[in-house]
Amino acid sequence: MTALSDTASPSLPSGTATQLCIGGQWRDASDGGTFTDINPTTAQPLAEIASATAADVDAAVRAARGQLDGEWGATPGVVRGKLLGVVADLIERDGDLLAGLEALDVGKPVGQPAMLDIPNAAATFRHFAGWADKIQGTTIPTAGYFGQPTHSYTVREPVGVIGAIVAWNTPLMIAAWKLAPALAAGNALVVKPPEDAPLSILHLVRLIVEAGIPAGVVNVVPGLGEIAGDALVAHPDVDKISFTGSPRVGKIIAKRAADTFKRTTLELGGKSPQIILADADLEAAINGTAMGLFFNQGQVCAAGTRVLVHRSRYNDVVDGLAGAAAAQVLGDPFDPSTTMGALVNAKQRDSVLGYIQAGRDGGARLAAGGGRPDLPGFFVEPTIFADANNDMKIAQEEIFGPVGTVIPFDTVDEAIAIANGTVYGLAASIWTRAVSHAHSLAARVRSGAVWVNGWAAIDPALPWGGMKTSGTGRELGWAGIEANTEEKVVTIVL
Ligand code: NAD
Repeated sequence: MTALSDTASPSLPSGTATQLCIGGQWRDASDGGTFTDINPTTAQPLAEIASATAADVDAAVRAARGQLDGEWGATPGVVRGKLLGVVADLIERDGDLLAGLEALDVGKPVGQPAMLDIPNAAATFRHFAGWADKIQGTTIPTAGYFGQPTHSYTVREPVGVIGAIVAWNTPLMIAAWKLAPALAAGNALVVKPPEDAPLSILHLVRLIVEAGIPAGVVNVVPGLGEIAGDALVAHPDVDKISFTGSPRVGKIIAKRAADTFKRTTLELGGKSPQIILADADLEAAINGTAMGLFFNQGQVCAAGTRVLVHRSRYNDVVDGLAGAAAAQVLGDPFDPSTTMGALVNAKQRDSVLGYIQAGRDGGARLAAGGGRPDLPGFFVEPTIFADANNDMKIAQEEIFGPVGTVIPFDTVDEAIAIANGTVYGLAASIWTRAVSHAHSLAARVRSGAVWVNGWAAIDPALPWGGMKTSGTGRELGWAGIEANTEEKVVTIVL
């Protein structure tokens, strides 16, 4: 296997998967259609990818259903667990290749997926390998039935055919979060990778087939959201949609899924606060906060884009973050000195530049960045706005780029009001040395995750998901098993 990260600015290795996989067969779209996958670093075409039609999605759903009614449906949990363990091993075997595909396709420095996405994807499969034979029900005492005693127990059964629709920012990791718990619980899937970055998921499906998971249990239909994605959401024989993406599309999916009473898990956007209290370890807070702003070019759902700082430390934090922005090295994701890559596409770059203009127009002070470097791809300078308030557009809307807004506060109550003062509720960081502050603020922030003295401390064992516009439902940990099973109760009148 070519280790893409061995070479500077590599091109795509020959043999990279670019087709659909339905029932274990790799093939072109039924109408021969393709879409062009662009390299964000060069703005040049990277690959032509088969573009699934509604007929392809239907074939994939039928293949998945066939497995639920056949071999996979009869496969015991202990065997499913063993197979998921093999997938984890194969992800690690191909770790360099997968990290290289993420760097080429998303534009991120190759060290980032090597450090986070690939190990996390493998750990996720391994974690759920452990759950597969431990999905238990309970026995429940009741008052009986017309005077007769009863014996009632519950079982957790797979939801059925799950459509997994994935965003482009960390595609392998997001796909692993959907696939591993669903497979552990015995479901079959049709995966719709993002059109901006489908390559790592296509390779993952190869590994799933190589691991020995029966053909048709996992099918992959790269294609356009409005065509392949919509066909999956509308399909009457899909039982659940597990979606990660924007609130705009999440809302469309929730409404559309209601027509066929599909279950949905929606992992959506964020505008997460990072609260720096007066007693914080400032060096750690600035380093951690900068990572929360600039990792993956700020294209992270949990990016900590609103930095709320006690007024006594405000100038120090603004200077520190401006310094961290200026220290970023933008360029080729395969150059080891690069710390920040390009945004995923021209539309995303232009949207981020539009927000930077809105920040200027709204009266915030530009403390760092704000421009577009002279590089061929979709680059934007890491940017810090100071002297901002929470009503500004840059403080309210998800930018999904390397732009931070630093807002001062005077009291803890004010910090909480600002932290909770958006429609989002995905994650929050709190930087403090005081245990009492840590716990009391963690209790008052409305978000699915709270990290104290860190950012993005994620783990496959921990539930993941958002409050408010950040989504509905949870993935990972036991919550991931619950989200991928239906609980049935059986009562026997004795
Ligand atoms: P997006 O909503 O544009 O697209 C996500 C996926 O939905 C893609 O695969 C796309 O093809 C598909 N899609 C588009 N229209 C569709 C339709 N009508 N029917 C069915 N599928 C459709 O989002 P994006 O730009 O890929 O990702 C960025 C967003 O994802 C941000 O808002 C980010 O915060 C969010 N995100 C959330 C999490 C999380 O865990 N909460 C993680 C990563 C990204």
